[in-house]
Amino acid sequence: MTDYLITCVNRSGTDPEHRHITEVGIRPRTGGSGRVVPVKLVRQQIKLGVHHYFSVDASGHRVPVRRYKCVCGRKTIRTFPDDLADNTLSVKKPCASP
Ligand SMILES: [Zn+2]
Repeated sequence: MTDYLITCVNRSGTDPEHRHITEVGIRPRTGGSGRVVPVKLVRQQIKLGVHHYFSVDASGHRVPVRRYKCVCGRKTIRTFPDDLADNTLSVKKPCASP
């Protein structure tokens, strides 16, 4: 099992309420190179307990990333407002194109 930090997010859609994350940039917490993976893979690995995923807030605290199904039906990931006042994934920049 590896702890991954999410470093950037790519989103789809144009509705500001539903610009859901479709890809994330990840890198091992212990260091090493990063890569961009589909959010579906992250969801699977969270569900199976294969790996853990975290976002880091402005204070450097790790916040768990969880599976999330929106009311619109899209399956994505998020950090919850009860983990933090802010959703730390919402401030992540888009991943650079390969
Ligand atoms: Zn939605």
